Amino acid sequence: VSLQRLALSRSTLDRAAHRRSDPGLLEALLDNASTAVLLVDGERAPVVESSHGPVLALLEPQVAAGYVKAAWLPGDGRPVRLYLGDDASGREYVVLARTEPPLKGSGLPKNLPKAVPGDAADPAEPPLPGSRWAGLREVGVLLDDTGAGLLTTAIALSHWHAGHPRCARCGEPTAVIQAGWARSCPACGAEHYPRTDGAVIMAVTDDEDRILLGRQARWPERRYSCLAGFVEPGESLEAAVRREVFEEAGVVVGEVDYRGSQPWPFPASLMLGFRGRASSTEITVDGEELAQARWWSREELGLDIATGELLLPPEVSIARRLIEEWYGGPIRDAGEAWR
Ligand SMILES: [Zn+2]
Repeated sequence: VSLQRLALSRSTLDRAAHRRSDPGLLEALLDNASTAVLLVDGERAPVVESSHGPVLALLEPQVAAGYVKAAWLPGDGRPVRLYLGDDASGREYVVLARTEPPLKGSGLPKNLPKAVPGDAADPAEPPLPGSRWAGLREVGVLLDDTGAGLLTTAIALSHWHAGHPRCARCGEPTAVIQAGWARSCPACGAEHYPRTDGAVIMAVTDDEDRILLGRQARWPERRYSCLAGFVEPGESLEAAVRREVFEEAGVVVGEVDYRGSQPWPFPASLMLGFRGRASSTEITVDGEELAQARWWSREELGLDIATGELLLPPEVSIARRLIEEWYGGPIRDAGEAWR
């Protein structure tokens, strides 16, 4: 059995991809008051608190258009419109994503434009009374399945549009087609599709069933996680697991088992989770990616978490789930300080 119910792999929407080629689809949906519209600003969307925790603040098209006009225009141009599909009840979902100016780095948008004279709303104001802007890392575990899938997909697509305004073949600006799922170049005719970067992440264990965790050089003291890295061109997933572990920690990995995957749209990764069996135990960190790495037994890990000596990655990450799978159950109070 592979890892079940990973936080960002729970989408329930039917993507209805066959409808994307209908050029009038978005106009028709945005003319229909029953369409649910999600606003996405960088990596954030509005949420409201319910008795079950945060839920996405989905807007009627007219309310969303009013907010966009008052808060995002002028200055940012039109938001990118994305058709995400429908749910079991037949409700249709459209995203309006603010993608300009292009995002810098992977953090929250820092340069929200100043309100210009005549603007009805401050851009930082949430679109509904009682709502607030929240990021996927914060609410990804707490949203229901539909909400988690919506926000994950919306952010992934939004990032791709923000980072790919021009044609990779001829350099001219491109236009959004396929209801937000592609861009085409009017100059050379090339079509461009969203990319997903494969990244492997692995819980490596030794003959005594201890787990190997590492601390990246840019992380604070005490923060450790599974080793991870991008798959290179021409490389299999299994080879990427072995290469990354050897490069970063000097440990040789033999047998490799796939455990599950989840999208990680910061900005475009698909995390592919593995267990790896080490055939050596001596650690030599590369000093660039990893500052430190060591082996933990279950007993040592439990103790170090209890005393605060070890901070694990947050529940939204597949890293946390891989560690918990090895540990034998959920680990509480281990990553709250890691935000
Ligand atoms: Zn072109």
